[in-house]
Amino acid sequence: MFEVDWKTPHLWRKTSKTRTASPSLSDALETDVLVVGGGFTGLAAALGARDSGVNVVLLEGNEIGSAASGRNNGLVISHHSKAAPSEFKAILGESHAERLNSLVAGAADVAFGLMQRFGIDAHQVQEGWIQPAHTEVTLARARQFHDEWKAFGAQVSWFDQAEISRRIGSPYLGGWMVHNSGHINPYAMTVGLADAIEREGVRIFENTRATRLEKVARGWKVHGAQGSVAAREVILATNALTDDLWPGLKRTMIPLKVFQAATEPLTPDQRAQILIGNPAVSDMHNDLRYFHYDRDGRLVSGATHVFWHDEEARGRAKVAAMLKNSFKALGGEPRMAEYWAGTFAVVPDLKPHLFRLAPGLVFGGLYSGRGVAAGMALGQEMGRWAAGRRTDAEMPLPVTGMAKVPFHPVAVQVANRVHAWHRVKDRFA
Ligand SMILES: Cc1cc2nc3c(=O)[nH]c(=O)nc-3n(C[C@H](O)[C@H](O)[C@H](O)COP(=O)(O)OP(=O)(O)OC[C@H]3O[C@@H](n4cnc5c(N)ncnc54)[C@H](O)[C@@H]3O)c2cc1C
Repeated sequence: MFEVDWKTPHLWRKTSKTRTASPSLSDALETDVLVVGGGFTGLAAALGARDSGVNVVLLEGNEIGSAASGRNNGLVISHHSKAAPSEFKAILGESHAERLNSLVAGAADVAFGLMQRFGIDAHQVQEGWIQPAHTEVTLARARQFHDEWKAFGAQVSWFDQAEISRRIGSPYLGGWMVHNSGHINPYAMTVGLADAIEREGVRIFENTRATRLEKVARGWKVHGAQGSVAAREVILATNALTDDLWPGLKRTMIPLKVFQAATEPLTPDQRAQILIGNPAVSDMHNDLRYFHYDRDGRLVSGATHVFWHDEEARGRAKVAAMLKNSFKALGGEPRMAEYWAGTFAVVPDLKPHLFRLAPGLVFGGLYSGRGVAAGMALGQEMGRWAAGRRTDAEMPLPVTGMAKVPFHPVAVQVANRVHAWHRVKDRFA
């Protein structure tokens, strides 16, 4: 529903190596596992299946890295989107909540582990992710997150007001850090992972939109404009860009458009006072503030708009004002040198989903803004599952039918406008 210009190079693409696109599909092929979608979920799913010893084909409708996986902020976070580990027990039951929490707790290590395994230079920094609190209410919530993850066995730390404000270079009341987390250049990771799985034997076809699914005796035949792939198992990893390939699937998610912006490289003096130790940070404002350095010392942040007219100028101005308010050491509003936008998928229960759409046809994803680490971790599990190495019962999430978002058209409008209300709430808080 949202048009995003994916062809104009943005910060992450400008600072990554160029990838020569794989060919588009022009034959009738057969394989064991077919993956549709070349973001983190699809690439990791293809790898998980290939590592399990089966033949794998991946179709990407545009180019690898053109969607959320290549355009996001780059925060690699082993923590749920807004929820505490205990809160999934009521939704999922004890055993699945435990498995989902394990997946999320280890997701950042999976992501950084893939970079290490394949020698991918994604400008990775695994110096932790900090979530600071700015009110008494958010402080209590941050303390809950910290205490629950600590009890779960995750490596986390608590910082008091003085320590957190010193580390971030901005006044906060306290907060917690997840040590295995960090930040990357997500485009470099996406194309690096695509190259790696091709070397492992996965056949990738780009600029090949899957347009039709046909049930055949041995599984499914997936049609593109000029070719087809017959496969025993098909994984749809199309996330926020899900189209009408499978009826009703796009009503299981709410696409949310957000923008990113980056400063010019900060001076050494500024860097000595801001984000000490090079952590990734996202705070607990309703109108979320998040930041980390890129490889060259730019501050990379972002936000969203209620209305998208004049989006670029307004986006740059909004982030510049937020950074000025957050970091005294900037000495005023920084010039925002880079701007780009992207779309991700949110769901009301804030947890990823695994849908069995039909025998041999599954969909997985929906990370509500936390899909960098979780997408790679869940994707690999989905690939192993499709290759027969995991049963439904062993998966980190229950395998369900499609869970459609109630009142979908209204929910999409509300989710993309609620931001105005968030700002009001922040002002009163
Ligand atoms: C601006 C922005 C900032 C974000 N920041 C963060 C962050 O800092 N940390 C974090 O954890 N998460 C963040 N997210 C969310 C995260 O990027 C996503 O959750 C994650 O990348 C989803 O990965 P995916 O592979 O499931 O989907 P995608 O990366 O969206 O990939 C889906 C792919 O499927 C393809 N596709 C769709 N339909 C078809 C079809 N019919 N045929 C063939 N191909 C098809 C699309 O072209 C696309 O390439 C952010 C998202 C955005 C947009």
